Amino acid sequence: TTTPTRHLYDVVVIGAGGAGLRAAIEARLAGKKTAIISKSLFGKAHTVMAEGGAAAAMGNANSRDNWMVHFRDTMRGGKFLNNFRMAELHAKEAPERIWELETYGALFDRTKDGKISQRNFGGHEYPRLAHVGDRTGLELIRTLQQKIVSLQQEDFAATGSYDARIRVFQETTITELMLDGDRVAGAFGYDRESGDLLLFEAPAVVLATGGVGRSYKVTSNSWEYTGDGHALALRAGATLINMEFLQFHPTGMVWPPSVKGILVTESVRGDGGVLRNSEGKRFMFEYVPDVFRKQYAETEEEADRWYTDPDDNRRPPELLPRDEVARAINSEVKAGRGSPAGGVFLDISTRLPAEQIIRRLPSMHHQFKELADVDITKEPMEVGPTCHYVMGGVEVDPDSGAAFGSVQGLFAAGEVSGGMHGSNRLGGNSLSDLLVFGKRAGEHAAAYLDALPSRPKVSRVDVAAATEVALAPLARADGENPYTLQQDLQAVMGDLVGIIRREGELSDALKRLHEIRLRVATVAVGGGRRYNPGWHLALDLRNMLVVSECTAKAALEREESRGGHTREDFPKMSPQWRRVNLVCSLDEGGQVHLERKPVPAMRPELFDLFERSELAKYLTDEELGEE
Ligand code: FAD
Repeated sequence: TTTPTRHLYDVVVIGAGGAGLRAAIEARLAGKKTAIISKSLFGKAHTVMAEGGAAAAMGNANSRDNWMVHFRDTMRGGKFLNNFRMAELHAKEAPERIWELETYGALFDRTKDGKISQRNFGGHEYPRLAHVGDRTGLELIRTLQQKIVSLQQEDFAATGSYDARIRVFQETTITELMLDGDRVAGAFGYDRESGDLLLFEAPAVVLATGGVGRSYKVTSNSWEYTGDGHALALRAGATLINMEFLQFHPTGMVWPPSVKGILVTESVRGDGGVLRNSEGKRFMFEYVPDVFRKQYAETEEEADRWYTDPDDNRRPPELLPRDEVARAINSEVKAGRGSPAGGVFLDISTRLPAEQIIRRLPSMHHQFKELADVDITKEPMEVGPTCHYVMGGVEVDPDSGAAFGSVQGLFAAGEVSGGMHGSNRLGGNSLSDLLVFGKRAGEHAAAYLDALPSRPKVSRVDVAAATEVALAPLARADGENPYTLQQDLQAVMGDLVGIIRREGELSDALKRLHEIRLRVATVAVGGGRRYNPGWHLALDLRNMLVVSECTAKAALEREESRGGHTREDFPKMSPQWRRVNLVCSLDEGGQVHLERKPVPAMRPELFDLFERSELAKYLTDEELGEE
């Protein structure tokens, strides 16, 4: 049948990672009937893969830490392009969200005196990441799921039905948002196993769909991350900001080829691991940029002392923000000092006793043994950059997560939203971001509903249109192969919109993406609707494509290098460009439109948290004068 099964909800949360689950809990606590939808099995979201930890200035490992230090680190990491209000809320609320998780049943690793332990990570001045070994995301997801189950048990006791007020639809893909005028009216999608069509009618939708990594071949992201939420938002009239900023994590596996891109957690460096080139040199000392010079050690001796005496020594340069380390590795490999498989060496084996490595980094030990036959307690790993995280995303109101643009009733939280991390995210700041802004989005979606005078309606015409689009690849007798298209798209993005960018290549990328767009419009797949991966990919492709167009277009427009956007032809950061957000929208013909918008100015009391000499490295004279 082509008639979708209808479901009625107050709030539909698309995505069952940390952001989605936290939003759903909050909406349900506010009394709203809530649906949680996920493409994969419940519990399989990206969040579960997070290894290192969640950053929160609890001050357990160093009592000097507080929200102001965390705020400063986040702004520095993002090179001051962050939405300051989001960075402020995040730094202030993260500790509370972590403690709250323990009330849901989480159990983080402990310090000797029984407090939540905190570990070092790149760009964080003090040890700040709450963690559970190197499997933190698993604990986060497990706990949030447990909380949802406990709410369902309460509902069962009250109503006789577990699903009365919160229900999970797993292996379900949303392909379109439904609108009533400029208000959200629901979401349309399909069950991946049966291929049955589904219509969720709801006045409020929270996007929590995560990232876009699958547009690149070498990525730490899994198959689901095709930028669906970004594209759904665009098509519904919302805007995306700063899509040029992608984080290439410095350490992905580079060998064997079948696992290229899989993440090697930053905790390896946080716990003492060092990077060396083929000459055995710890090359990161050569790559400390001026803006960070004061905070990083100049000699190996000082760097090594820091692990035991952080108050009197400066941090090792291996712990610079990720963009710096990724670029440094890229340069070493390019200069012919790379490892045999085209990366560099990451060594923990000569830095910690084997039993400590196994205790602190159990997953890494297992991962290298299983996938590469490398024993990390005895030999170095080979690592290189991998596409990991998108800083750009849905432009939102910082306090509520409500999407900007022409649409109402749409909220976004977690990786799919933009602004919080500026041009580069610090490790550990995502897990805390999910909790802080997931909660806020759920709360504000519920409040939006309370203030709504009437329930928006889904129109039959829109449902018919969404149905036609969803079934089109199956209806075509022949056409383009989705797998070929994905490979072609990945080649364009990896080769021309990768870690180092140039004008000519970016223009070329846009031309090629345009050709791919025409081909995506004719994609065809054989078989039926029952679990048909080719069909699923065919539908994901148009999302990957439009998001990639935003990235390429913004990357061409931004004539500077900052965080996750490096232009070989404009190698410096520009204080003028720091004032600019690049905003993507779709015009009526579905073409990507780019606009410049001013970055909101920081409030004076936040301004005062920095020394003027530091601000002078980022801001224009005019901004410094205005203060
Ligand atoms: P996700 O957890 O990515 O979940 C997205 C959800 O949306 C999924 O349920 C997916 O199925 C669903 N979805 C997507 N599209 C659709 C659709 N069309 N219809 C229905 N459902 C859909 N960050 C840290 O802070 N610390 C770390 O230590 C850390 N380690 C990491 C390690 C790895 C290997 C990776 C890949 C990332 C790591 N990150 C880390 C980043 C962090 O894990 C992610 O940014 C974060 O988990 C994103 O959470 P989210 O809730 O926004 O989305």
